[in-house]
Amino acid sequence: MAPKYLKRASAAESPASSPGLDVASIVKNVIEDIRQNGDAAVRKYSENFDKWSPESFKLSKEQIDATIAQVPKQTIEDIRQVQANVRRFAKAQRESIRDFELETQPGVFLGQKNVPVAVVGAYIPGGRYPLLASAHMTILTAKVAGVPHVIGATPPIAGKIPKATVAAMHMAGADEIFILGGVQAVAAMAFGTKTIHKVDFLAGPGNAFVAEGKRQLFGEIGIDLFAGPTEILIITDETADAFTVATDILSQAEHGPDSPAIILTTSEEVGRKAMAYIDELLKELPTAPLAGTSWRAFGEVIVVDSIDEAWKVADQIASEHVQVFTKNPRDALEKMSTYGALFLGENTCVSYGDKCIGTNHVLPTRKAAKYTGGLWVGKFLRTCTYQEVKSTTASGELGRLCGRAARAENFEGHARSGDLRAQKYLSDEHSW
Ligand code: NAD
Repeated sequence: MAPKYLKRASAAESPASSPGLDVASIVKNVIEDIRQNGDAAVRKYSENFDKWSPESFKLSKEQIDATIAQVPKQTIEDIRQVQANVRRFAKAQRESIRDFELETQPGVFLGQKNVPVAVVGAYIPGGRYPLLASAHMTILTAKVAGVPHVIGATPPIAGKIPKATVAAMHMAGADEIFILGGVQAVAAMAFGTKTIHKVDFLAGPGNAFVAEGKRQLFGEIGIDLFAGPTEILIITDETADAFTVATDILSQAEHGPDSPAIILTTSEEVGRKAMAYIDELLKELPTAPLAGTSWRAFGEVIVVDSIDEAWKVADQIASEHVQVFTKNPRDALEKMSTYGALFLGENTCVSYGDKCIGTNHVLPTRKAAKYTGGLWVGKFLRTCTYQEVKSTTASGELGRLCGRAARAENFEGHARSGDLRAQKYLSDEHSW
């Protein structure tokens, strides 16, 4: 049977933008202006969008120290603990990536080396909330990958420096810290200006403007992935606790006004109860203006006949975060293939992944999970190959093969490089 909707999204199925704004063309204009006019345009947009125009967007060492001194000790201790979790997982990922060399035939050696990107720009979102966790996820992960120079940029919040975010950026190992947000930050880092170092690669999540900015800049520089407004999908059967479902749905809907939050259940009762709890919780949640807007516009409750149907529908949705509240949550590892990250069982929740557990919270949105996983050390590495033919006989034989292969493509110049070696190293070879 076709899935039954207890609630459908009232806005576009996949939010490409903040409602009512043509994000792509706003972003294009900002990028082109910054390309042409550098620092002057950066300052203009920072004033315009963030009412922020300090003498220097870059924090000096003295400013960083003075800012961190104002952060509560417990917050510093918590940052340290969370960064230890993130570092531990990222290091294990780094160790899973191998440099190797293989002798593919006698005297022919092929290898690969993983070389870190030289300069990374890490965007730490912060328009609405000081997302200090994004500093751990981007800057620390780049550092574990071995990136020598990491520039961190984060917007001011209501005209002020986000102190705990600066602490997290510094403790994660940022080499430079800029208080600069939005498209102006990512474009400035991508092109370089008189005051901002050009980067090779941009990483980090952001709102629709930031994500679109990175998408448009891709090609001139590298980007990690399309990590826009947060999404959550909770898969449940009849065993799920509807109140926990409702609480966790709102934990993600509060990110912004354009965050899809979906309940996919085999139990209509759980679905209906969770909807009722969401309405109740929204009456007292301090972030209800954002969470409620998201839930009304992009919230969905879908009832399916069987758990097998749920896995299929979930794969089609390709959500950034998938929580699994079923009898056997680990089944999802076998049955599902398309998601940013899985959170298995009711003891686990997306908020742990977002804030502290140690896996990376920069994850694919808007169905990007169909072609990429989330941010990890491997994104900051370039896998470069090399080859050496030590045996003259092997070189001669490869030369013969190369000559034929290249002529099949009408590449006479390539063919002659092969012929040359075949003639040199194989006694029975004739000249061309
Ligand atoms: P942000 O830092 O991403 O964006 C703030 C900037 O947006 C401001 O500095 C401003 O310059 C710019 N901006 C605002 N309105 C604009 C306009 N009309 N035109 C041009 N620029 C404009 O912070 P945020 O807005 O709080 O959003 C954070 C986002 O990050 C949320 O959507 C959240 O869901 C997302 N997020 C995603 C992931 C992921 O991995 N996918 C992880 C964490 C957070």
